Amino acid sequence: MLDKVLIANRGEIALRILRACKELGIKTVAVHSKADRELMHVRLADEAVCIGPASSAQSYLNIPALISAAEVTDSSAIHPGYGFLSENANFAEQVERSGFVFVGPRAETIRMMGDKVSAISAMKAAGVPTVPGSDGPLPEDNDEAVLATAQRIGYPVIIKAAAGGGGRGMRVVHSEDSLLSSVSVTRNEANASFGDGTLYMEKFLENPRHVEVQVLADGQGNAIHLYDRDCSLQRRHQKVLEEAPAPDIDPEARENVFKACTDACIEINYRGAGTFEFLYENGQFFFIEMNTRVQVEHPVSEMVTGVDIVKEQLRIASGLPLSISQDDVHLSGHAFECRINAEDSRTFIPSPGKIDLYHAPGGLGVRMDAHIYTGYSVPPHYDSLLGKLITWGASRETALTRMRNALDELLVEGIKTNIDLQKDLVRDSAFQQGGVNIHYLEKKLDLT
Ligand code: ADP
Repeated sequence: MLDKVLIANRGEIALRILRACKELGIKTVAVHSKADRELMHVRLADEAVCIGPASSAQSYLNIPALISAAEVTDSSAIHPGYGFLSENANFAEQVERSGFVFVGPRAETIRMMGDKVSAISAMKAAGVPTVPGSDGPLPEDNDEAVLATAQRIGYPVIIKAAAGGGGRGMRVVHSEDSLLSSVSVTRNEANASFGDGTLYMEKFLENPRHVEVQVLADGQGNAIHLYDRDCSLQRRHQKVLEEAPAPDIDPEARENVFKACTDACIEINYRGAGTFEFLYENGQFFFIEMNTRVQVEHPVSEMVTGVDIVKEQLRIASGLPLSISQDDVHLSGHAFECRINAEDSRTFIPSPGKIDLYHAPGGLGVRMDAHIYTGYSVPPHYDSLLGKLITWGASRETALTRMRNALDELLVEGIKTNIDLQKDLVRDSAFQQGGVNIHYLEKKLDLT
């Protein structure tokens, strides 16, 4: 087992990783910017290293500073969490070249999945269902071929940047008239934003749900899935409220997609935790991308399977095989996660500042993964996630009732939060029924 892990992250995920390390008897090193001296995991880690100035998010992106911190503390591995450098293949490479273990997939896997064109073609080759599309990059100097591709796929189509991320670098085209101009604008944007103008084209699905599959693979020939999650409630491609398992999915399509995902992991010799993201429409799954890291919403899968995803990541990084096989994974009950953000419930404008009062809900089936406490000051430099409220119940209804009650108990005073929005969502009748699509939340917000 790894001896000492440096946690290259902040906030709730740093605390989450710290807890998993403690359970496994692994020593921990926190790194933090000056603004983050008061973070909860900094207090709890065995050692802490300040890696940068107060006034920027850059500290957690400073590769030389992170590697020096690992060197001076004699760490054996670096866990990147999510966001920041977690899907940066160069970082993974430099960590390993410097003699540390990167808790995640091999750099070449991260690189392949970071380029959506190569990710889609690898997944297609491995038997994962993909969106009908251009099957490769769009040619730069052959308008006829671009027009013919769209004709073959059928309008509406979506033009996407191979290097895109965070919901940027995409454009929907409804008819041939605007195709070529849209391709050219998207290419310029992709060049400017990602330094890579490679584009591809997909059929634009009009009313899909976002359903994703959690996998774990040890790079030693073993891969399992931990069922699916529905993350359709999104605003500007940011997930707001997630659940596991995804409700009302065609059972045969679901079994097939689980098998395709684990087969693909073995095929590409995947190592670590990962998520296959799909759009789900009319009983069919369509792969859109793979995330090669632990995700914000991983707790809902933990609650319905009892598998600790971060502990498994650390075991895999230690060179151990998966501690469980697929037959050991049993789906039990239902779980929801509400992301609690420091932002105005209506305008979504971030609201940093001092938390005058914090009270976390409790009780059977209630889990709060958060790093905040009364008196903590939310700095303005980072994303606005304060924590995640997760509930479990033997049935979807019980889990949802628990979430309603838990949100009523949750107190965060002194700053604005999105708790009122979450309270509203868990009482929404369409959401209560289950299976709303990815446009539901934005339409609902427009109407209110
Ligand atoms: P990113 O990496 O930027 O998040 P994705 O490829 O995951 O990009 O797509 C982000 C979101 O864009 C999806 O969750 C979905 O809402 C929308 N989207 C992407 N591809 C399609 C498509 N083919 N049809 C309809 N919507 C799509």
